[in-house]
Amino acid sequence: MRFAFVSGNPALDLVGTVGSRRDKPVDLLAAPADLEQWVLECDELPDQVTADAATFTSALRLREAIYQLALDRMLERRFTSASLDIVNDAAAGPLPTVTLSDAGLRLSGDLRSALAHVARSGIAMLADRHACLKECGRPGCTRLYLDRSRGTRRTWCGMDACGNRVKAAAYRARRQAAEQGRELR
Ligand SMILES: [Zn+2]
Repeated sequence: MRFAFVSGNPALDLVGTVGSRRDKPVDLLAAPADLEQWVLECDELPDQVTADAATFTSALRLREAIYQLALDRMLERRFTSASLDIVNDAAAGPLPTVTLSDAGLRLSGDLRSALAHVARSGIAMLADRHACLKECGRPGCTRLYLDRSRGTRRTWCGMDACGNRVKAAAYRARRQAAEQGRELR
């Protein structure tokens, strides 16, 4: 897996394809093929889609619009209307089809239908007043996620990606401080 699906919502996972948004943004979706791979890896979306330049551009616009609306929601301000238009337009498209067989559930559809599903998931989350939307506690990560833990105490987007890194850094800092203390004695 090249991409992380830790946010608890495919719309937020799409937003998370840009890391360190405030400092030095790193965009994992550099070309249409990256988007095809992201859709393939996302459990809620069809496996085989083709991205052309136009659908790729609209996917990136949808991603940034969802990010904007998530920020609006977290800052408890009115939704940015241009972003609402983008997300609502994307959600109006046809959805992937779902079929059941002995092999299980199968999703099929094109990229536009995949984006419609992502947009609808984003809308459901943004409209849910009880959904606890957070930004990862590791400085510089900036990934957003839904905190569904008891007592909403989750601090990191993921334990592997961020939680353990922060804890390891804190451990190193404590050890360094202890060693310096010893040298002074
Ligand atoms: Zn993180």
